[in-house]
Amino acid sequence: MSTTYRPLTETDAVAYVKERGFFPRDAALTCREIGDGNLNLVFHLVDPKSGQSLILKQALPYARVVGESWPLTLDRARIEAEALRIEGELAPGLVPKVIHYDADLALTVMEDLSDHIVMRKGLMARTVYPRFAEHMATFLARTLFFTSDLYLSPEEKKAKQRAFINPEMCKITEDLVFSHPYYNADTNHFNPLIRDAVEALWQNGALKREVARLKEAFMTKAQALIHGDLHTGSIMVKADSTKVIDPEFAFYGPMGFDPGAVFANLLLSYASHEGHTPNEAERRDFQAWLLETIEAIWRGFAEQFAELWAEHVKDEMWNAPGYREAYLRAVLQDAVGFAGCKMMRRVIGLAHVADLETIPDPAVRATCEKLALAIGQALVLRRETVQRIEDLTALVRDVA
Ligand code: ADP
Ligand code: MG
Ligand code: MG
Ligand code: MG
Repeated sequence: MSTTYRPLTETDAVAYVKERGFFPRDAALTCREIGDGNLNLVFHLVDPKSGQSLILKQALPYARVVGESWPLTLDRARIEAEALRIEGELAPGLVPKVIHYDADLALTVMEDLSDHIVMRKGLMARTVYPRFAEHMATFLARTLFFTSDLYLSPEEKKAKQRAFINPEMCKITEDLVFSHPYYNADTNHFNPLIRDAVEALWQNGALKREVARLKEAFMTKAQALIHGDLHTGSIMVKADSTKVIDPEFAFYGPMGFDPGAVFANLLLSYASHEGHTPNEAERRDFQAWLLETIEAIWRGFAEQFAELWAEHVKDEMWNAPGYREAYLRAVLQDAVGFAGCKMMRRVIGLAHVADLETIPDPAVRATCEKLALAIGQALVLRRETVQRIEDLTALVRDVA
C-alpha cells in the first residue's frame, strides 16, 4: 500500500487491516463507515466468522463547516493516537486500546467499543450509569495529575508540552467556544424564538469580560495534558464501563477545561429534559441524578487528586500550607466558568447538541435553550463564589 496520504474507502480499509495482519487474509470482513463525516472517517471492521472486530479512524485533511472547506492539519491524528496511549497508561481501561498508528495515512487502528453506546444517547433516554462518576473521577484525576508540573520534572513537562502543540484545533475552540457565541458572528445559528435572550447576552459587558478572562486562561494556562473535547459524545458507556474517545483536541491547557466539559454536557442534558420528559416525577429523578453525578465526579476527582499529591509531590513550594486546597479550588472555579461557556455555545454557536436539537416543538425547545443560557451565564458570572461543588449544584437549582 502506498505510504502517501489519501482518504480510504471501505474496500481500502479492509485491504489495509488484512495487509497489516490484523485479520486473516481469507477473512470475509464487513466494513461500515460509522463516523459523522465532518472531520474524520471511522470504519467499523468485523470478521463475522470469528466475531473479532476493530475500529479504524482516519483524519481528513479539511473540515467542512458552514458550507466552506478549510484545511485542517492531519497532525491531529498523531495527537489523538499519542494522547490515547498516554491516557491508557495513566487511566487503564478507561480509553480504547491503540493497536496501530500510521502517520502517513493519519489513521489509528483501535479497540472496537461497539458494545458501549455514546453517552449522549444514553442520557437522552434517561439511562442512569451508576459507575460513571467514579470512572470519570479516576480518568480526570490521573490524566491531569500525572501530566502536570505537580508530578513531572520541569524538563519532562516542557518536552511533553512541545509534543502536544495543537494550534489549529485550539483555534477552533478559541473561536467557537470563547468568541463567536458572544457577538453577532456569521458562524452562529440559533432558534429564532430565543433571539431576545441571545441579544441580551450580546449586550452583557460583564459577561463578555468574564468570557474573555476564560478565553485567556484557555490559551495560556498550560497546566496539564487535557483531552480538550470531553463532551458526552466523546464518552462511550455501558452499565459497568466508561471509555473516553476522540482526544484530537488534546494540548497543554487548564485542567478545569475537562471537568468543565463534562459538567456542561450533563447540564445540557438537565435543561433538555424540561422538554423531553414532561412527566414531572421522571424528570425530577433524572435531573437529580445528573446533579448528584456532577457532585460525585468532583468529590471523587478532588479526593484522588489530593491522594496523588500527598503521595508524589515532593516540591517544597507545592507543599506550602494551604496550597493544595487553593489549587483545587481554582481548578473547580475554572471548570465552572468553562462549563458555562460550553453550555452557551451549544445554544448559540456553530455546533449544537442532539439533546436539545431533537426536541421537535420549537417553543418547547426555546424554553430548554433559555434555561441552558441562563445556567451558562450564571456559571460564568458567579464562578468565583463557588468554593465547594455543592455551591455549583445549588447555583443550578437556583437558576432552574
Ligand atoms: P470525530 O472526531 O469525527 O468526532 P469520534 O472519535 O468521536 O470521531 O468517532 C465518531 C463516532 O464513531 C463515535 O461517536 C462512535 O459512534 C464511533 N466510534 C469512535 N470510536 C469508536 C470505537 N473505538 N468503538 C466503537 N465506536 C467508535
Ligand atoms: Mg463528530
Ligand atoms: Mg467525536
Ligand atoms: Mg473529534
